[in-house]
Amino acid sequence: MNIILLGPPGAGKGTQAKRLETERGMIQLSTGDMLRAAVAAGTALGQKAKSIMEAGQLVPDDLMIGLISERLDQDDTKNGFILDGFPRTTAQAEALDVMLEKKGLKLDYVLQLVVDDAALTGRIVGRYTCAKCGKGYHDEFEKPAIDGVCDACGSTEFKRRADDNAETVMSRLEAYHGQTAPIIPYYKQAGKLKTVDGMAEIDEVTREIKAILG
Ligand code: AMP
Repeated sequence: MNIILLGPPGAGKGTQAKRLETERGMIQLSTGDMLRAAVAAGTALGQKAKSIMEAGQLVPDDLMIGLISERLDQDDTKNGFILDGFPRTTAQAEALDVMLEKKGLKLDYVLQLVVDDAALTGRIVGRYTCAKCGKGYHDEFEKPAIDGVCDACGSTEFKRRADDNAETVMSRLEAYHGQTAPIIPYYKQAGKLKTVDGMAEIDEVTREIKAILG
């Protein structure tokens, strides 16, 4: 099964994608993670993307389309993939349709996580991850059991994203409403769109998604 998780930054796409990976053996394809890896490695793509990401804007479509097209050709997508953070524009959505058709792949569902804007800034600004295993935490909503120690792997090193600050979040939300939300009707028309209440507790969101995917 191949799906898209769609929603504003902080909607819980990454959290739910990780659960689907564990429970269903699907693979999370997060374009944000790919770009952050490219920035950290200092590749040509990373150098182009860095300042755009720090400003909370969108990286040009042609770069993103090329990135995801190459990624879909890797073998680990064969058990199903979860697109997290792609597509983010109408051009990306249209290019995705074309590339899936060419590759003989099918998109099963587009799950839209619906969250009030007012809740998003607080969710994003407080979040951080274990630097070793990647487990996600939040200053207020999800602290490790022992302060400063990762519940999952015991590491004491944590990291925060450079763009998870109040100022950049405003631009990211603007980009979402201005450029990404317009693709929702596109998937509705294609009969692929399912909405999920992203304001619910994390486990409840997971249950809703399970009920849709079967
Ligand atoms: P994310 O981790 O999905 O929140 O993405 C972090 C940042 O990476 C975004 O704010 C954009 O600058 C960039 N980015 C990620 N995915 C895309 C995409 N599909 N199109 C354009 N820019 C993207």
